[in-house]
Amino acid sequence: MRGRDILVPMPVTMDTLVSLCKRRGFIFQSSEIYGGTGSCYDYGPLGVELKQNIKRLLWRDFVQSRADMVGIDASILMHPTVWKASGHLDHFTDPMVDCRECKLRFRADDVDTLPWTHYCPATKGNKFTIPPGEPCSHCGARRTLCPDCGKGLLTAPRQFNLMFKTFMGPVEEDASVAYLRPETAQAMFVNFDNVLQSMRMKLPFGIAQAGRSFRNEITPGNFIFRTREFEQMEIEYFVNPRDTVEGRPADEYWHDRWIADCMAWFQRYGLREENLKLREHDKDELSHYSKRTVDIDYRFPIGWSELMGIANRTDFDLKQHAKFSGKSLTYFDEERKEHVVPYVVEPAMGVDRALLAFMADAYVEEEVRGEKRVVLRFHPELAPVKVAVLPLLKKRDEIVRRARAIRADLAKQWRVVYDDTAAIGRLYRRQDEVGTPYCVTVDVQTVGDSEKGEAGDGKVTIRDRDSMEQARVPIDALPAVFHELLSGGAWAQVAARYPAAK
Ligand SMILES: [Zn+2]
Ligand SMILES: [Zn+2]
Repeated sequence: MRGRDILVPMPVTMDTLVSLCKRRGFIFQSSEIYGGTGSCYDYGPLGVELKQNIKRLLWRDFVQSRADMVGIDASILMHPTVWKASGHLDHFTDPMVDCRECKLRFRADDVDTLPWTHYCPATKGNKFTIPPGEPCSHCGARRTLCPDCGKGLLTAPRQFNLMFKTFMGPVEEDASVAYLRPETAQAMFVNFDNVLQSMRMKLPFGIAQAGRSFRNEITPGNFIFRTREFEQMEIEYFVNPRDTVEGRPADEYWHDRWIADCMAWFQRYGLREENLKLREHDKDELSHYSKRTVDIDYRFPIGWSELMGIANRTDFDLKQHAKFSGKSLTYFDEERKEHVVPYVVEPAMGVDRALLAFMADAYVEEEVRGEKRVVLRFHPELAPVKVAVLPLLKKRDEIVRRARAIRADLAKQWRVVYDDTAAIGRLYRRQDEVGTPYCVTVDVQTVGDSEKGEAGDGKVTIRDRDSMEQARVPIDALPAVFHELLSGGAWAQVAARYPAAK
């Protein structure tokens, strides 16, 4: 990573990120003017660019560039039996308790992890807020009532399904119940045979999908870390369980390959190694379908938490859907002349969560000539805006005209902005704060002075976000230079070729 070692990155807090996201147009609270919708967020003009870049890179690196991968884009509403077969109708639940007084609902496991309200009989009923799990220091009582209102009895735990339920068609009756999908994975299983036949796939191969999923989380939170509506990118990678690769069962070999590939992917786009670790699920923690699951955990501002999971789901899903649909979901093994049910390895990523990790890891505060500089050191391919074109003097028509023409030309290939609403120092800081890797300034030397009969040099200054160094580049060369820089070319090489005047 260019120059990263010379800076000391701050451990950024969630509050800092939330505030930056709102101020600079990355992420807004959903329906904010109405007081917001619980745990739903809207991506603003810069957030949508960043998120699209993440999805595009995932697709390019894991689908487009691989001969063994194809994609689908399935509908969110699926046949209700899908969720019966997948186990979601019966098992995708959390035990919940309700307060009989204030009607608040809690996840049963969470009740004793919350501070609790207590009206203490030893102090004439004074109200106290007591830390989670601790007894009252006056009367010694422990929590038995609702932790929030301190008055109501809690109901016995009941299973609460996390799927959003709705109705298909005009009649709200049991026969028309449908669910918003809680994961994208099932569409790959139910389309397994369609993809296999239409694309003439041979094992091992994978199907990928990026799209929205919905979970009616009871205790969502931590900004976009856990939301009720979110974007997933999931891959179902089918292997022949009878094959061996390098002397190991094929499913185990490919599981490890995917873990390594995903880990490398996050690092390639900027997550630092020390902020990533693998976490093996214990046997009793494994889902009912899983032979082995490994999470990639990231050091989020809220602490180490799951960034993505990579599970070996065996043949559970295809067998379940074969059983419930009555259709055969097998693969004909030419070599052994027999039908097999493939095993599947599933890398599953939350796009919103990845976006949060990339932002947290890119955030740096540093001191430049006695002033604080906030920089999002995004990888150039992730950066929402690639280039900002800035006129040094906005009163000179020729400078403004030339700057606008440069923006229009570069914008055919990349997201490029023009800004003349402040002095140059402040314009640079603005772009640093949203992670724009390069700024182009058009100045008097560029255009010359026709009144004095001075011709311009037709060159502009490119300023590198991370090093703050400059290069002087002919306007004609800009597309080629940015092509080089934005696809991983080194700034030092460009700077050496086009030195800035001292
Ligand atoms: Zn209550
Ligand atoms: Zn008490």
